Formats: sequence, structure tokens, C-alpha cells
Amino acid sequence: MSTTSTVSPGITATYNGLPQQRRLVTSVPGPRSEQMQALKAEHVSAGVGVALPVFIAKAGGGVLIDVDGNSLIDMGSGIAVTTVGNANPDVTQAVQDQVAAFTHTCFMVTPYQGYVDVCRTLNELTPGDHPKRSALFSSGAEAIENAVKIARAYTKRTAVVVVEHGYHGRTNLTMAMTAKNMPYKQSFGPFAPEVYRVPVSYPFRDRGLTGPEVAEIATSRIDKEIGAGNVAAIIMEPILGEGGFVVPGAGYATAMAQYARANHILFIADEIQSGFCRTGDWFASAHEGVIPDLITTAKGIAGGLPLSAVTGRAEVMDAVHAGGLGGTYAGSPAACAAALASIGWMAANDANSLAREIGDAMRARLADMATRYPAIGDIRGRGAMMAIELIVPGTTRPDADLVGALNRYCHAHGVVTLTAGTYGNVFRFLPPLTMPLPLLHEAFDVLEQAFAANTP
Ligand SMILES: *Cc1c(COP(=O)(O)O)cnc(C)c1O
Repeated sequence: MSTTSTVSPGITATYNGLPQQRRLVTSVPGPRSEQMQALKAEHVSAGVGVALPVFIAKAGGGVLIDVDGNSLIDMGSGIAVTTVGNANPDVTQAVQDQVAAFTHTCFMVTPYQGYVDVCRTLNELTPGDHPKRSALFSSGAEAIENAVKIARAYTKRTAVVVVEHGYHGRTNLTMAMTAKNMPYKQSFGPFAPEVYRVPVSYPFRDRGLTGPEVAEIATSRIDKEIGAGNVAAIIMEPILGEGGFVVPGAGYATAMAQYARANHILFIADEIQSGFCRTGDWFASAHEGVIPDLITTAKGIAGGLPLSAVTGRAEVMDAVHAGGLGGTYAGSPAACAAALASIGWMAANDANSLAREIGDAMRARLADMATRYPAIGDIRGRGAMMAIELIVPGTTRPDADLVGALNRYCHAHGVVTLTAGTYGNVFRFLPPLTMPLPLLHEAFDVLEQAFAANTP
């Protein structure tokens, strides 16, 4: 690992006062981060892990600045959250104005306009032009929990159907809904009952089965093993996030939604990771023209402030008794102000075009690398949500060790990357939409060097 400074050639643009460059002035992590990491070990539960023990002091555009003064390229956006850019000036201004006026009342005690404006905006932006209502919460898992509560109240049924490789959160109900055991579920059971998992279309691993063929297997399972009449909702991510950016084969989501409608089951799209312009559309459901009954959102909604939502058909959302939904901090004023500013920024800056442009650049670089590195078994995703699945060349056997090695190389060389996938063999890319293209290319130059250093 080099400790001499590495400076990106020719990049001088600044964002939030930060030069948009990769620049290492110490090893990564540097001595200050290592000190902080020792303090973390002393004071923070060991159960809270970190992907890269670099403590951050400032961020913006496409970079994260650490406490040692290193400027790192941000290819994760804090897991698809800072889509509009970290410390986006519109967001910080809106939050400052809001917290200077009031910080909290609890919407269930004395309401405020920002909450209503976010709901109206969500009702307008989400797929379908039927009458809608929304309810706001703080975390993604909380939105999922509430979507299930609403679906059960409306249908008066209890079973919830989820799919293989799905991820929905870390609370008790959402752990039950999440597929992967380590690290999310191990030793945390018993899990909530009445959650059933069915196959999802995973084109790279389905041995030629089409989306509708896998949906046929899944719906037959529901019929035979659960009974359609017992099912309140089918919940799936349009593009599987933690599961490895699996894009189900064409027709899978449509067939599942049609089956749901035919059996009076609600179809719920979990757009917590894929929503808000991440994939080059406001919501990834739009790519297949699926109109979900309910949609859950969080992550990219509010530029980094904690906010989540359930949006859906008015008659479904209104089926819950007054007082049945809420939470002390649910839809906090600062988070609502941040959401309105973020969504405003996305509309004003044609964020969907930015995501597609970034996606095209990423796909081209990855396709080029795949011609030289046969460990790249699959390139997939949409817009600024792209991934590669790494395998032992000539097989589909997952190569998680290689992903780990590439990840460590990227981190040590100043690129903050994330992994994913049930088999831990997926490398995913989620840059903020404020990422300058030259910096994006530099991140992929580092990835290419990582391949060269770690493959024969
Ligand atoms: C992150 C995520 C969640 C959980 O959100 P939290 O805010 O971490 O509770 C749920 N569903 C999907 C698809 C996610 O990506």
C-alpha cells in the first residue's frame, strides 16, 4: 500500500468546497482513523461492524474526506442514500431553515405542512395515476413493517410472501423477510411467523428459465403450500439490492403482480434501494410498467436524513384505524424539509438522465474489463445501480474471495466500494449522481488495477 500522495490528474472542479479528486496523503486507514477505530472498539458494540474503518470529516460531489486528510472516491453513497450528493447545498439549506424554525412537534400531536407536502409529492411521483395516500416513518425497515400492517388490515389475511435473495431490513419482522442468514439473522431468532419465501428470477443462475417460467414456479408454490386466499401481500424489490443487484428476467414482476391482482393479494414494491432516480427512472418498477398497490421508499429520498414512506392505493392506505400508524419521530420536520429539497433537486437537474449517463459509463467500463478478466461472470443493474458477479472462470461457482481482495485493494487505494450478494461475490457500484465523470473513470481505473493485481 502506497503512503506517498496520489493525485488525480487534471481535476480541479470543487463541490461543497472540496476539490473533486482522489488524493491519498497517508495509508488508508491513516493514523487518525486508526486512533478513532481503537476508540470505537472501546465504546461501540462489536455487533456494529464497518466496511472500511476510515472516519469521515467532510464530503461532497464524488468524494469523502477522512480525518487524515485523504480524499476518497465515493462509490457507495452511504448505501444508495446520498443520491443528490453528500451535503447537497439545497438539502443543507432547507434543513437549516427548518431546524431554526422548529425541530420537532410529533406529527401525531400537532402536525406541520412539510409532512403533507412530502406525501403529496410521493403520491404524484409513484407509478399509477389512481388516488393515493402516504404515511411517513424513519427507517426502511419501519416502512416495510408498516406496509405489512396496512396490507394485513386491508386484506384481513396474514401471510406475507417474499422472494429468494430479498432484503427488507433488520427488525424482527423484516429479518424474517430477509433471505440471507449471515450477518443479518444468525442467532437472532425466533423470527416472525407467516412469512414465506418463493423463487425469484435470477437470469445468471436460472439455467435458461425465463422470468415468467420462474414466476410460474413461484405462484404454484403459493397456491400449493400457502393458499392464495391466505396471502395479504407479495413483497419484492424490483432490482434486488443486498441480494446482489439481480435484475429479474423480463416478465417476472409483471406475472407476480398479475397473480396478486387475480387473487386479491396486494403487490408491494420495496423501492427502498432502487427508488428516487437511482436506476434512471423515479422508481425501478417503471422499467416493467408494473404498478404496485403499495410502494416502500427510504434511502435516496432525503439526501441523507432518516426518512421512509409507504405510498399506495387510497382505499388500502385508508383501511387502517386512526392512530394505527405513526411513531414519535416518523416524518420528522428536518427529514421532510430534506426530502422536499432532494426531490426538487432531482427534478430540476434531470437526475434520471444523470443516472443513465453514469450507468452507461459504468457498463462500458465493466464490459471492457470483462474481455480481459473472465472472473466477471455477469454485469447487471440499471442506471447508477450496477454490479458485477465474480465467479471461478468457466463455471458459475461464486468467488467471494476475489471480491474481498478487490474490495480491499480499492479501499487501500482511495475508492470506497461496497460488496453484496447472497454468496458475497458481487461488487456493486452506487455513486452519487453528483459524481464527476472523470472521477468515476478513475475509480474504474483503480478497479482495473485491482483485477490486474489479484488475478493470474
Ligand atoms: C436498506 C433496505 C431496507 C432497510 O432499510 P433500513 O433503513 O436500513 O431499515 C429495506 N429494503 C431494502 C430494499 C433496502 O435496500
